[in-house]
Amino acid sequence: MSKRYGFIIDQERCIGCNACTVACRIEHESPEGFIKVFTQNSEIKDAPTGGFPDLSMVWIPKLCNHCEFPPCIYSCPVDAIDKRADGIVIIDEQICDGCKACISACPYNAIAFNEESGIAQKCNLCAHRIDQGLEPFCALCCEGQAIYFGDFNDPTSKVSKLLKENNLFRLKEDLGTNPLIYYSPPMKKREL
Ligand code: SF4
Repeated sequence: MSKRYGFIIDQERCIGCNACTVACRIEHESPEGFIKVFTQNSEIKDAPTGGFPDLSMVWIPKLCNHCEFPPCIYSCPVDAIDKRADGIVIIDEQICDGCKACISACPYNAIAFNEESGIAQKCNLCAHRIDQGLEPFCALCCEGQAIYFGDFNDPTSKVSKLLKENNLFRLKEDLGTNPLIYYSPPMKKREL
């Protein structure tokens, strides 16, 4: 059976330190990391929830969702974006002509335009590391060990076992893109 790689990000463990963003910038030599940490309620307010002494801040790292049905692929006029057999969505930087169609098409705002090179770039789940049997660099560097990487098609993997927990969620599930990035909400689930 082919592999189906993705993440489960544990919001109970994420402390919003942005180590993943820094790791991503280093690994990809990108001006900005392709994974970024936000406060979950940042669209409303960038502030803790609850009241003293029971305050909390909930963080949500966001990246390319390696969608099963990726709008970015369908939008690219030069076929520069492909989904590998293992589920990873990749932009071929040799083919990309910098038209930015994918940037408009991605509902997750996951693609950046590199002004220097004139091409679109995004998280590739560190495919070059995975191909060497290594985990993505952000998962390795996560201070809180909040990023679980694995193969959802392997029933013995940690991510497959966690997926059986029915409280996981994905971003914008109503769009039907079927992300391979899941989130495990904080234990003490709050109204955000
Ligand atoms: Fe493409 Fe955006 Fe989905 Fe990533 S999140 S696969 S860039 S549509």
